[in-house]
Amino acid sequence: MAQHTTDTLVELKQKVGSCIDEAKDRLHRLSKDIWSCPELAYEERKSHDRLVKFFSEEKGWTVDSHFKLETAFRAIWGPVGGKENNNVINVGFLTEYDALPGIGHACGHNLIAEIGAAAAIGLKALVERTPDFPVPVQVTVLGTPAEEDGGGKIDLIRERAFDGMDVVFMAHPSQEDASWLPDVAEHDVVVRYRGKASHAAAYPWEGVNALDAAVLAYNNLSVLRQQLKPDWRIHGIIKHGGEKPNIIPAYTELEYYLRTPSRKDLPTIKAKAEMCFRSAAMATGCEVELEFARNAFHNVLRNPTLCGLHEVNGKALGMEFTTDEEVLKNTSGSTDFGNVSFIVPGIHPYFYIGSDALNHTEEYTVAAGDDKAQFYTLRAAKALAMTALDVLLCPELLQRAREDLKEANLKEERSSSGCAGWRL
Ligand SMILES: [Zn+2]
Ligand SMILES: [Zn+2]
Repeated sequence: MAQHTTDTLVELKQKVGSCIDEAKDRLHRLSKDIWSCPELAYEERKSHDRLVKFFSEEKGWTVDSHFKLETAFRAIWGPVGGKENNNVINVGFLTEYDALPGIGHACGHNLIAEIGAAAAIGLKALVERTPDFPVPVQVTVLGTPAEEDGGGKIDLIRERAFDGMDVVFMAHPSQEDASWLPDVAEHDVVVRYRGKASHAAAYPWEGVNALDAAVLAYNNLSVLRQQLKPDWRIHGIIKHGGEKPNIIPAYTELEYYLRTPSRKDLPTIKAKAEMCFRSAAMATGCEVELEFARNAFHNVLRNPTLCGLHEVNGKALGMEFTTDEEVLKNTSGSTDFGNVSFIVPGIHPYFYIGSDALNHTEEYTVAAGDDKAQFYTLRAAKALAMTALDVLLCPELLQRAREDLKEANLKEERSSSGCAGWRL
């Protein structure tokens, strides 16, 4: 039966929740199928196909498979509603669906895909059932691959896939409900040392030891750590350390992640790390090659207006947002949503999934596939859809969210960077 905007906002919010509940079985199947077939970054072919099938089977969506990237997609509905001269509001929902090597969906990205789909089809259904919905709405779902490695959203920004989006939503599974956590900026580097092999006992003086270079680099960085700010992070592994103890290693390879709370500090930490890597090569006589990843992740900017709305909506649904200062202030991970947060007003809240297991563990993989996670996942999706309704039906809120974005960018530009006393 057709509804009318004589409904209060509270009633519309209840109805968008009901629309999501109506689709719960097919949303659960979608999530379970993605979980059952974990695929790594940029290789999420079956998950991509499953999501494309989902939106193709829902009525009214225009679906672009392989959108800009092989495993990205886009689904668009609308614009619908409003009067002719009103500006269309384009609401974006993001889905992720990549998994981790060896341990499957240990970050619960199958649930991120489900939430994006749930909030999008819920909002669409509500607007369809409300013929005099006052604003023209477009819903855009982007399938964004490779969050765990590479940064598909950054590729998609480069391809202008976010152009025209007024506001963007996604949510990430965690141990607690939080409208924002301090996800930091990150740039990854692979370092390769090339020396010369030789018999390690008979004529070691003929060799150039690439393992020595790797070990010195590791130690240089360990020493550097004391001079870094407490919330900066450098962590890495030796991926290749040689072939055999009786051969002086001719080739070694390190992989390091460099992180700072603000993207403004990334050039500084990179320059410092680079000196550590290069000096190790000089000391050992090796050649060194540094390969920084194509994409650097930005920190996630907080949008106070959207975070505040999300908390009010989440609390109305029974979510309990953490007040633990340690959780709220401590360095979190990094996400390619950070780059999105600099260009579109949006949120990347975290939600509890009914388990205390930690992300990136086998226990979390089990939790992300457990039926128990469904209640929490759909609740988080409802909170996102309700927040979208706030923004759609109250133009001042969208304006405030846009001003928050501007303000956060300015604050970021004004923030201090670097460490004193370094000649870089
Ligand atoms: Zn992860
Ligand atoms: Zn994740």
